Amino acid sequence: MTSGNIDKFRMLLTETMNELNESIKYLKEASRPIEPSCALGRLTRMEAIGEKGVNEAILARSKARLIRLENAMERIAAGTYGICVKCKQEIPGGRLEAVPEALICVNCAGK
Ligand SMILES: [Zn+2]
Repeated sequence: MTSGNIDKFRMLLTETMNELNESIKYLKEASRPIEPSCALGRLTRMEAIGEKGVNEAILARSKARLIRLENAMERIAAGTYGICVKCKQEIPGGRLEAVPEALICVNCAGK
């Protein structure tokens, strides 16, 4: 991969991490415990609890993705970014644009 491309993906990774950090901040806020005394009607409270569960699931996924993005940044520093860990071929740019944290190419992912 050329150094120009590396710069592009470093920026893409940074942007994606920033966005993820923003939504994690929001999701943490949204998945705080619901006060039993809170002045919601019973149905509204049930909905709030359901929504909290959804937010927690998204929060867990967002945190896991953030770690994968951080690992990708380390691979950029190590010079191994964009190389499929299975077949050792370069991962096509289109896939990295869609999934900048990708570890394996589409061929290997499909196996
Ligand atoms: Zn591969």
